[in-house]
Amino acid sequence: MRPMISVVMGLALGACEPVPAKPATDDGLEPLEAFEGADELDEPLQPPDTVPDGVQIPWVGPAVPGLAGETNTVTVSQVVPGNRIFLLLAPEGGTFLTPDCGLTLDLDDPELLGIVEGDGVGVATFDFEVELADADRDLVFQAVDLESCVVSAPSRVSFKDPGPGPTTTTPGTTGSTTQPGTTTTPGTIPPAGDPVACYPGDREVYDVCVTLTPAGSQGSDYAYPSSSSSNYQAPTAYLWVDDIPGSVLVAPNFRRDELAQDWKGDWAVVQVHAVERLQDLRDDLGAITVNSGYRSPDYNASVGGATLSRHMYGDAFDMALVSGSLSSLESGCYAQGAGFVSVYVSHVHCDWRDDQQEDAFYGAGSPPPPLPTGQVVSGRVPVPSVRVEAVGRLLTAPVLEGFECGEPLREWVAYGADGQVIGEGTGATYEAPAGASEVSVTVGRVVEARLALSP
Ligand SMILES: [Zn+2]
Repeated sequence: MRPMISVVMGLALGACEPVPAKPATDDGLEPLEAFEGADELDEPLQPPDTVPDGVQIPWVGPAVPGLAGETNTVTVSQVVPGNRIFLLLAPEGGTFLTPDCGLTLDLDDPELLGIVEGDGVGVATFDFEVELADADRDLVFQAVDLESCVVSAPSRVSFKDPGPGPTTTTPGTTGSTTQPGTTTTPGTIPPAGDPVACYPGDREVYDVCVTLTPAGSQGSDYAYPSSSSSNYQAPTAYLWVDDIPGSVLVAPNFRRDELAQDWKGDWAVVQVHAVERLQDLRDDLGAITVNSGYRSPDYNASVGGATLSRHMYGDAFDMALVSGSLSSLESGCYAQGAGFVSVYVSHVHCDWRDDQQEDAFYGAGSPPPPLPTGQVVSGRVPVPSVRVEAVGRLLTAPVLEGFECGEPLREWVAYGADGQVIGEGTGATYEAPAGASEVSVTVGRVVEARLALSP
């Protein structure tokens, strides 16, 4: 085993100054002295609230092949081209101070794996040896850019022991990491350890991978309603929201904090295939504002969400186009295979409730989805419903169930005694024209109700 590298004492807090890079040692490891001035603190410092303009939080991808006793490769993306990136590895739980900027790392006595410049597309690629003695330990990567004063979120890793005999390495199928670029079934569980979800990331190479936490410790805010439907079962694992910093792009045009926010739940479910459909929508229709993604059951109840709101299951988004109509977003969602779409005055709700639930969040062999009926409304869970109420000729259409917070779009049609259309309108209320004998209202473009009017 490599002798423990001593930490250079002597705190150097000050402006960001370039740190001289030293040549790599023979085994690819850098002496920690290159991280001059680093020190350990009793308490973490408050990180800067903002990152400089044009700088993103670096993202540490998974280790490939994720085996101890071999050379592993890790890519750090979203870095500033030309900046030197430090990659460190350690057990989690320390408070390690960087030489400049006053950043603290969640690392305990880290080892510096290398210093690599970001390339032209903002990626730094590290190759380093992992000792067999490090097999099956819970370790954490963090990447630091001292020139921009930004640090990545901790990225958990456990290098697997390749075992006795000749090693046959199948990249991406060992260890609790997944190889970027080869994730054909996003969100699937690796052979051992806790489940991992890999998001497309800014380059769509599925390098934004996070280890999920099994259900059980999330508390009373995560009491899911019981349902007999296979696609409405409680998750078996959750994403700890802060494991992906808010500004990290989980898809080319969507940051994590657009799809899951900590005030809507510290734990979240964000199914990878739903993120892919969202990006497809964006590619089809242009910029999209996402108003709502994941909601914990407690948060969903507090904002008047539907009892079985898909926002609790990680495949629903409330959206509007930055430039374009709600109707074009509605048809765009259907074109992307959405299982349910409803139109509100300010946004469109789209979800993928009929898709297979991802193993990473719902367990291996989660039940197949119910058979879609091909109908917009019938056979779904829950079935939206409304009724029409009249006071004289003034009509309203209160919703009974199946709708969310927000004002659903109500479209009214009035019919004369001969069945001909004699009036139309939209809005929360509608005044039936004289001579109307029947009025229909379509609510959210998903459910229709009718009421016969006395002449
Ligand atoms: Zn919604």
